[in-house]
Amino acid sequence: MRIHATYSGGTIGMVDSPQGLQPGADMQGWLNHVLAGTQLGEGNVSMTSLDPLIDSSNATPDNWQAMIDDLWLHHDDSDAFVVLHGTDTMSYSSAALSYALTEFGKPVILTGSQLPLGMVETDATANVTGALNAALYERAEGVTLFFGHHLFPGNRVTKSSSWAFEGFSSPATGPLARTGAPWRWYPVERSGAGWANPLPYTRQDVVVVDMVPGITAQRLEHLITPRPQAVLLRAYGVGNVPSDEPGLVDVIRSAIADDIPVIVSSQCSQAEVLLGHYETGDAIAKAGAVGTGDMTLEAAYAKIIFLLSQGLRGKELAAWMPKSIAGELTPAWKKL
Ligand code: ASP
Repeated sequence: MRIHATYSGGTIGMVDSPQGLQPGADMQGWLNHVLAGTQLGEGNVSMTSLDPLIDSSNATPDNWQAMIDDLWLHHDDSDAFVVLHGTDTMSYSSAALSYALTEFGKPVILTGSQLPLGMVETDATANVTGALNAALYERAEGVTLFFGHHLFPGNRVTKSSSWAFEGFSSPATGPLARTGAPWRWYPVERSGAGWANPLPYTRQDVVVVDMVPGITAQRLEHLITPRPQAVLLRAYGVGNVPSDEPGLVDVIRSAIADDIPVIVSSQCSQAEVLLGHYETGDAIAKAGAVGTGDMTLEAAYAKIIFLLSQGLRGKELAAWMPKSIAGELTPAWKKL
């Protein structure tokens, strides 16, 4: 099996500097060393270092597209693909890649590490060899993310710890597999409509707003004025907002009247947004807000950027939110 690695940056390849950790490790040399004598030695793993290598906190949709372009560039030369990535926004990237690569037809596995590869206790070795091993199993379909002994669906995963070696979780579905001898694999529903010939990712103006006790209508109005292209509202529980707060629901209603999609997610990391379950969510549902179902925040945000990049706006965009493109949410009829 031939595997291509796209190295985008992140702690995994960082070295100490007077300004703190920054990219600079010899990733290719380290990879050759780790794989020497294994079935992936002898030049079976190729690598591209993206330029510039970044801390993933600096990632934008342009970086998502740079990864996608590199994957397509090497599509015909390899059987599987690994993307080496910083952990901070890896779950945004893995969701973004999942929407854009529904026609890729070969596995793409993202991974990174909490500690750089040069440290005695690093998790880089286990994560990179785990990602490569996931490819060797030939069961990792679509875009996935390997971290801390688990393989997750790429658009169902979230960074749940800033320090633990098991730093990612998939609150709605659980993992696809966990390591061991042999690995254990679990069934996860991942169907989606796909997207033929997607246009490249471009930067978009999307506002993410948290509800907090005491937020006023005026503050919310200021946060979405001038109007962005879409609002992702992080509400409480199943999608509730403070509906008794004078004027607050009117602000949401007026944004929707301006043809700005208002997408409602939850502050719960494990959530099922059901607008209309309570009076406090019903008001915004009637105004035309759309819930994110059991999508992670990362999957919902990347999906909005994807749909905007495809030229969708307003109601047309909102209508795609409850439909699965790449297995990012459990369709409503599957839950009955
Ligand atoms: N700030 C780093 C990054 O996301 C964190 C990491 O890789 O663990 O690039």
